[in-house]
Amino acid sequence: MAIQKIGVIGAGQMGNGIAQVFAQAACHVVMIDVSADALKKGIETIGKSAAKLVEKGKLQPHQMAQTMALVMPSSDYGLLRDRDLIIEAATENLDLKRKIFAQIDAVAGDNSILASNTSSISITTLAAGTKRPRKFIGMHFMNPVPLMQLVEIIRGLDTDDETYNAIMETAKRLGKTAVACNDSPGFVSNRILLPMINEAVFALMEGVADVESIDNIMKLGMNHPIGPLALADLIGLDTCLSIMEVLHRDLGDSKYRPCPLLRKYVAAGHLGRKSGRGFHKYA
Ligand code: NAD
Repeated sequence: MAIQKIGVIGAGQMGNGIAQVFAQAACHVVMIDVSADALKKGIETIGKSAAKLVEKGKLQPHQMAQTMALVMPSSDYGLLRDRDLIIEAATENLDLKRKIFAQIDAVAGDNSILASNTSSISITTLAAGTKRPRKFIGMHFMNPVPLMQLVEIIRGLDTDDETYNAIMETAKRLGKTAVACNDSPGFVSNRILLPMINEAVFALMEGVADVESIDNIMKLGMNHPIGPLALADLIGLDTCLSIMEVLHRDLGDSKYRPCPLLRKYVAAGHLGRKSGRGFHKYA
């Protein structure tokens, strides 16, 4: 089945990036969000990102125009009726995602594939809440989506081969590299990345070093492109906390305990880049 019509749920930093890469691959995208402001910002972000790609010579000006024309922002889940593939990229919260998939499942055609971009939540659990667990899969894009090469593909317990093959093929069509893993809390990427970020927050809380020093030591010493606290700000501190909570609860090991300082920042509304302040401050 040629996947051509896409639905993306959530117009936040991941949702608009996913919408953009599909539109750049000439797919028609409906991008749904409950927030009109998020939809407006999402379209603006796609415009800015595509313009930067044109500047760098990675996208032709006519492709930028085509990309913008192919993304339709909306708050109407009814528009998902004819979609070949619907990718959920809303806030990292199990109850919210369950509700969203119930809504999607009610309107999507029988042949639609449903995917979640969740960072940590069980694909098998989300799939079980729909009437199509065989056509459900994890499609975990990396941030920022237009620039990052990897898509981590997660098979739920009942995902069938047809769905898996169609999604591997689709990722390739986007110019991405798909790497598969099994369904387990945090999959591979966040099982390893998030405990490192959490440990950096513990180091900060315990006064081992200040924010700049922690980031510089990890950047220069480990050859990481950005430090762990700057990366936490990029991911979103609320998302980091949700992922640590899933690892802690679902793996049942105290080594995944979210750092109290991370909880404090989230409680204060300091969520990183998206709120203008996290461990670093942003204009
Ligand atoms: P975000 O906070 O930037 O955006 C989430 C969006 O979901 C918001 O615009 C919000 O209005 C919208 N939303 C909430 N409820 C909704 C509903 N019922 N219907 C439609 N939209 C709804 O978050 P994000 O960073 O884009 O993360 C989205 C998902 O992608 C999460 O599951 C996250 O774990 C995952 N993810 C995040 C990153 C990252 O680096 N931030 C990387 C990979 C995966």
